Amino acid sequence: MTRTDTIVAQATPPGRGGLGIVRVSGSKVPEIAAAVVGELPPPRYATFARFLDARREPIDAGLALFFPAPHSYTGEHVLELQAHGGPLVLEALIERVLELGARRAQPGEFTQRAFLNDKLDLAQAEAIADLIDAGSRAALRAALRSLQGEFSAMVRALVEALIDLRTYVEAAIDFPDEEIDFLTDRELSGRFAAVRAQFDGVLASAQQGRLLREGMTVVIAGRPNAGKSSLLNRLAGYDAAIVTPIPGTTRDVLRVPLGIDGMPLHVLDTAGLREGGDAIEAEGMRRAHAEMQRADRVLFVIDAADDPAGAAFREQGARLPAAVPVTLVFNKCDLVVAQGAEVAPLAPGNDFSRESAPPRVLVSALTGAGIDALRAHLKQCMGYSSVEGGAISARSRHLESLARARAHTEEAARQLAERRAGELVAEELRAAQQALNEITGEFTSDDLLGRIFAGFCIGK
Ligand code: GDP
Repeated sequence: MTRTDTIVAQATPPGRGGLGIVRVSGSKVPEIAAAVVGELPPPRYATFARFLDARREPIDAGLALFFPAPHSYTGEHVLELQAHGGPLVLEALIERVLELGARRAQPGEFTQRAFLNDKLDLAQAEAIADLIDAGSRAALRAALRSLQGEFSAMVRALVEALIDLRTYVEAAIDFPDEEIDFLTDRELSGRFAAVRAQFDGVLASAQQGRLLREGMTVVIAGRPNAGKSSLLNRLAGYDAAIVTPIPGTTRDVLRVPLGIDGMPLHVLDTAGLREGGDAIEAEGMRRAHAEMQRADRVLFVIDAADDPAGAAFREQGARLPAAVPVTLVFNKCDLVVAQGAEVAPLAPGNDFSRESAPPRVLVSALTGAGIDALRAHLKQCMGYSSVEGGAISARSRHLESLARARAHTEEAARQLAERRAGELVAEELRAAQQALNEITGEFTSDDLLGRIFAGFCIGK
């Protein structure tokens, strides 16, 4: 099947509506327009017309819009027929267009053609789907940013930085007498550090964007009886977990999907973290740790009445995965207030092995006090908080490519530092670049030689 065949699909959702739009893209658009509308409408003008069937009987009357190639969404000739939004009307129109030589479009095929015709890159094409699927304003904004090319521009800037590095290293290889000088050059390690910082920025924005799109996974942890299951039930708004005063009630991992203002949140209740317990409980704790490794955040629940200084976190904080951010949830504040006791203040950095003290929220799973503040906090963690430059719509695929690219860059830095192996450094950088190019869907390997000579003076 060639790219020039003509495709047709309903662009509006199925069902009844005031209007329904049939979109046609491909080289047969002029003859299809002539047959259905009676003539090819002037470019980009809304033209009122009767839509005709094979016997030239009207199917419906509406607006026809013609976008000549290449100035259209797909980059091909595009015809939009805006008819009345009845399923029979639209199907009759589509069948007429099929009779005239078009075929039904595959899902996403208009956007795929836009990509093939360089109207947008892969990350932008994906952003269109994300924009349509966005479940929150924040996700919508992130998708729009990606669609407008902000994410692609960040990735391209990274690619540029990697190409610069490669240029430098490959020139050293081409001039072996000078290789050692090149590779021990301070400037090179400085450039590596700059690229690393750039990676961090893009990863932070992309990670935030993925949370908005795919949701955040939160693991509830803490000592038995701290009120973990009660907190889950309170967040869920129903009794998802069994609550008893007997420590060790929750033994397996319980997974509950929730939404906060349209943003997906997956909350996992786990077996309490404590020494001892039977084999089932021990297995539950092993699973709890495995889930925490994969989580986006750990809510560490502390019984504020029993443990106002947060000793439980001091004991177990070091055993939580270091890379996963933690929020301390001081629960049972109803008891604390009733007893007139104070929750001991936790100064940042004090008592905790982590670099900075985790954020704290005071709640009562029993009365619901503080739960709105906890929801607001989670919302902020998911993308209302401002990453510098803001979240951009990103998918796991992008994060994987970014992570792979970064790993290759780290390996390049290692090869440089430990072995001064120019070829291997260049090879790792090439792999990093290729991983990034997977994000935008472009791969430009051949222009590298040209850049080497353009960027470097041959006399050096
Ligand atoms: P888990 O073992 O950490 O899951 O704790 P549970 O949710 O099973 O709760 C343990 C006990 O603490 C139960 O008797 C709960 O009713 C009680 N509890 C939980 N949250 C609160 C709270 O906010 N205030 C008070 N007063 N009791 C609570």
